[in-house]
This record gives sequence, structure tokens and C-alpha cells, in this order.
Amino acid sequence: MRVFNFSAGPAVLPEEVLRQAASEMLEYGNSGMSVMEMSHRSKDFENILFTAEQDLRDLMNIPDNYKVLFLQGGGWTQFAMIPLNLMRNKVADYIITGQWSKKAAGEAAKYGVVNEVASSADKNFSYIPDLSNLNITPDADYVYICQNNTIYGTTIKNLPNTKGKLLVSDISSMFLSQPIDVNKYGIVYGGVQKNVGPAGVAIVIIREDLIRDDVLPFTPTMLKYKTHADHKSLFNTPPCYGIYICGLVFKWLKKLGGVEAIYKINTEKANILYDYLDNSKLFKGTVEKKDRSLMNVPFITGNKDIDAKFVAEADKAGFKNIKGHRSVGGMRASLYNAMPIEGVKKLVEFMKNFERNNLN
Ligand SMILES: *Cc1c(COP(=O)(O)O)cnc(C)c1O
Repeated sequence: MRVFNFSAGPAVLPEEVLRQAASEMLEYGNSGMSVMEMSHRSKDFENILFTAEQDLRDLMNIPDNYKVLFLQGGGWTQFAMIPLNLMRNKVADYIITGQWSKKAAGEAAKYGVVNEVASSADKNFSYIPDLSNLNITPDADYVYICQNNTIYGTTIKNLPNTKGKLLVSDISSMFLSQPIDVNKYGIVYGGVQKNVGPAGVAIVIIREDLIRDDVLPFTPTMLKYKTHADHKSLFNTPPCYGIYICGLVFKWLKKLGGVEAIYKINTEKANILYDYLDNSKLFKGTVEKKDRSLMNVPFITGNKDIDAKFVAEADKAGFKNIKGHRSVGGMRASLYNAMPIEGVKKLVEFMKNFERNNLN
């Protein structure tokens, strides 16, 4: 029996996609073999890769002067690749809105000077600071953000005024959840295991002029964007099966009406939960309303024992992985694209019942 999986990542995938993958497990098309067994140089796999890229381009309206790279190493490898490839002046500005931007900044600090130009650490990252007039460093190579904070449940809704500097954004936990204008970024990237596919693939969308040979001199071959761009993500063996599943998810999303359509559904899903949280006498959200994420919804009761009881009872009732991250506590429901609206409705029903039984 399938459960409602509210995991923050790896996370729920569309059932339709899993069924199709299952039906193609032993034989993909007329190839006589599984995608896992194919040469990455075969026509069949090239077709899977290039179709996935085109579908992603269609879904996100990616302009022609941007390359799409399918890489390995998850989000963390990008924390290093970004400074290695972009730090010509060896200075970058980081906006710290949670653990992931903090970790990215820590990695960049190995290669150059990192300036924290804004931070919401003072209130445990429960809000997004004003980013409209930052003290941008004159010779900064780029400005870095984590656009959706998976752990804290906030989203940067107004992009920072970078004062002409390149913007780099980690969109791991909001990939394809709502429309974004790729033109506003130098690089947008994410690990796919939150909202797009299985762990093992990271997608990097990078403006062509940023793909250069003059990276930091000690940069490993595998960590140069140019290596992968020159070979259309086929420099070495890519994460073939993961890319294939991403491709199926792209098709699923296109059939559903694309990013605009899923954005509507995601908004509806998030509103169901937030509306309840705002009216509940037991549960409450942990972040400022204006900065709330559509994807990750942390909430607490204010009592650790009741939180633990809720998590245990929810788990028994088939609402899985709803325990919050240790740095926030309480609960977190991740409402990624593949979470059906019934999942959210049933969760809220369950919460209402729990509230009735546990409020004295
Ligand atoms: C999960 C996550 C990461 C880390 O990804 P890995 O693939 O585990 O390295 C980075 N950024 C964000 C926003 C995430 O949610």
C-alpha cells in the first residue's frame, strides 16, 4: 500500500511515473534491455537525455543562451563548483537564509572571501530579510541565494537587488513548482531529489558566457562546467537511470499543463494547510506569513511531548516522514509537486481530529 509521504527529500514521485518505469524496467522500448543496462553512448540513451533536456527547456522557458547540465554530486558539489568556476576576483556575496546557504557559503570560503550581506540567523531563519538595498561588494563575482529554504519553510519571493551582479540560486526544493524567469539568474541549480526525480542527479542551468576555461587553476576536470557543457552532459558516464526518471517526470508535468498548472495546484495545497494552521488552537506555523514556502511547511504545537505524540500517531495513520528537522523541531510537511491534494486534505482532517482529542 502506498502512503502519503511528506518527506523533505528524497521525496514522493508521481505514481504514474513509477508505474511507467516499472513497465519499462525489463525492456525499454525495443532495446531488449533496461535503461540501467544501456551504454550512455547508445542512440536510445542519447534520445532519453536530449528529450529530457528539451522538455525541461519547454517547461521552464529556458532561453537559448543558457545551457542545461545533468550532473552528479547533488547540491553539495554545486556549493564548490560555483566558486571554483565563478570566483575570478575571489569575492562573493552570500545571503544567509538557512542551513543550505550557510553551508554553501562555508564551501565558497575555501576559495575566496565570502561576505554575508544579509542573514536571518537572528530569528532562527524564520523570515526572509529585506533584500532590496544590500551592501553589495563592488568586486563581488556573484550574489548567492538559496531561494526555498527546505528546512525552515521560507521562500525568497522578491529576488535581491544585486546591483548588476550575477545572481546564483539554489532552487533544489522548489524546482518546477512555480514559474521562474531564468533570465534573472546567472546560474539556477538544484539536486533533483526534492521535486524532480531520484537522488543522484543535479541540474544546472547556466548562462553560456559563464562557461569558461579560466576557472580557479586547481579545479578538477569534473568540477568545471565547461567539461560538461562541451560534451552535452556526456563527458563521462552520467547518472543515466536518474536522468531517465527525471525525463518521465517532465513528461508527466507537461501533460498536467506545465509549471503554471502545477503552481496553481501547489498554491491550493499549501493554502489548505496554512489556513488550518492559522485557525488551529493547537498547531501553528513557525515562519512569517509573508515568507511562507509553498513546498515545505514546518509547524509546532509548542509542546515537545504533544509534537512527538502527533508524529507517532500520524505515522501509524499513514502520514509518513512528518517529523520536523532537528533545528526547528515539531513537524514539517513537504508538499512537493507529486503530493496529491487528497494527501493534504486528509492530513488536515487528521490534524483536526488530533486537535479535538488533545486540546484541554
Ligand atoms: C537538500 C538540499 C541541498 C543538499 O542537497 P544534496 O543533494 O544532499 O547535496 C541543498 N540545497 C537545498 C535547498 C536542499 O534542499
